[in-house]
Amino acid sequence: MSEPTSPESATPRRDFIREMVADDVATGRFGRAPATRFPPEPNGFLHMGHAKSICLNFGIAAEFGGKCNLRFDDTNPFTEDVKYVDAIKRDIRWLGFEWDGEYYASDYFEKLYEVAESLVRKGKAYVDSQSEEAIRAGRGTVTTAGVAGPDRGRSVEENLDLLRRMRAGEFPDGAHVLRAKIDLAHPNMIMRDPLLLRIRHAHHYRRGNDWCIYPLYDFAHGLSDAIEGITRSLCTLEFKDNRDIYEWLVAEAGYTDPPTQIEFARLELDYTVLSKRKLLRLVNDGHVSGWDDPRMPTIAGMRRRGVRPEAIRSFAETIGVARKDARVEIAAFEYAVRNDLNMEVPRVLCVLNPLKVVLTNYPEGQVEELTAQNYPHDVPKTGTRTVPFSRELYVDRDDFMEEPPKKFYRLAPGREVRLRFGYLITCTEVIKDAAGEVVELRCTYDPETRSGNAPDGRKVQGTIHWVSAAHAKSCEVRLYDRLFSQPDPDDVPEGQDFLSALNPHSLVVIPDARIEPGVAMDPVGTRYQFERTGYFMSDEESTSEKLVFNRIVGLRDSWAKEVVKGQK
Ligand code: ATP
Ligand code: MG
Repeated sequence: MSEPTSPESATPRRDFIREMVADDVATGRFGRAPATRFPPEPNGFLHMGHAKSICLNFGIAAEFGGKCNLRFDDTNPFTEDVKYVDAIKRDIRWLGFEWDGEYYASDYFEKLYEVAESLVRKGKAYVDSQSEEAIRAGRGTVTTAGVAGPDRGRSVEENLDLLRRMRAGEFPDGAHVLRAKIDLAHPNMIMRDPLLLRIRHAHHYRRGNDWCIYPLYDFAHGLSDAIEGITRSLCTLEFKDNRDIYEWLVAEAGYTDPPTQIEFARLELDYTVLSKRKLLRLVNDGHVSGWDDPRMPTIAGMRRRGVRPEAIRSFAETIGVARKDARVEIAAFEYAVRNDLNMEVPRVLCVLNPLKVVLTNYPEGQVEELTAQNYPHDVPKTGTRTVPFSRELYVDRDDFMEEPPKKFYRLAPGREVRLRFGYLITCTEVIKDAAGEVVELRCTYDPETRSGNAPDGRKVQGTIHWVSAAHAKSCEVRLYDRLFSQPDPDDVPEGQDFLSALNPHSLVVIPDARIEPGVAMDPVGTRYQFERTGYFMSDEESTSEKLVFNRIVGLRDSWAKEVVKGQK
């Protein structure tokens, strides 16, 4: 998508999935209310791709008076953990959704086993004792049919006996697998006698050691949906070829009105990776501080950074649901974040790179309290606060140039600017250290301009932000930026992987910025717009002794410009 959609046009759209569900309701197709599920594997934290799926599944249930289950697809004992279960539940609730039933595929192992036995009895499944390689070779290729292995003709009795002993734990890992007996020449490779169960003597985070035959994705997924009475099973496009086995299994298991699978496009976002496996690598290899590092595209990372759930939901609505994969520009997400915060958060003054300004004609020891607006006029919120003003201030280094170009309307020798909520000041002298670096500006202020305007009507173009040096609080500001320096981090030269595309400047820490003092007492997690700078939230590590702020997003997209300047 090229242009972020404006909020006016982001009213809920009927995508092809909602059309289908509306049709289900109208025709009474399933004889039950629409039922969806969100089925994460608890092997990592949820990311923005999952958020898209959550908004879709829970959204449909809410819109059509149906239900949405949370089902943990926990069929792999090696990678799953209860810490991920807890994180997933927290993140879904934070996004603003509540599930109807909470289920675990690992609770269905007995039921799946019953289906397995019934398939064996019908001659629709068999125990194969070949090696993994032999099984793979026996499948053939897209152009050649597979060939039956020596075990395909096993009798029902022998298959049942082996299956029962597999379950009883008599065999080591890899000794046998259970396969569906379908068609070794099927045009869809997945249908060439797919694996259903394999032996894994491993500790499962919920089942402990009491179970040792684990279902493969295809065997567990459709049947779990059917057990829960799901109507539409929404999944991403890469599962398109799995639809045949899905339908075969729910039919063979005897479900009437079984759920049907519908595929939609995965979310891929520029400048980041949406894959738990890759995100786990970033965490384990120490490229980020954890799953909730504010640079991570995880829901926990977004939350820590300061993004509000409203922004994620509105982003999901804006991108919609399509049948074709497409990358989404990160600008579309940043737009949603800014748009959400703009109407919600108060403005404050914070100077990121302080440069001292001394007002030579301002009385020593005098302090005034200037009235400042918390919200600009176009935000339907009001309120004012006071900010202290005195003889010594800090302004941002970027707001001063010794030899300014023509269009530079900020501070420069001899130039006059407006201080936000305050006086007009004129730079009269530039003080430098021995190395020639500017360390202080001497200015005069016009006592007649407290309103921000000159009584004689003289025009002053620029307005800059500032803080009172004696009153401002020191704070650490963490400037987060895109985690990768190119849109598709996987698009790297051969022999390299996505890690080589990491952006080395994705975190810049400013140890000693200066912020207006009033914020010191605000609770952790308060969001602000630092005027002229961006949106920020106080981090969970922030204390009244040491304030810490995370940049959520800048005020505008400065990325394109900086790439041109060669800074990124
Ligand atoms: P990953 O590759 O990151 O591990 P996954 O698909 O294996 O993702 P699951 O926990 O199995 O992760 O996914 C739970 C649900 O979230 C699935 O229904 C899946 O289709 C959906 N989902 C995962 N990633 C995306 C994505 N990028 N866009 C949309 N939906 C996604
Ligand atoms: Mg998965």
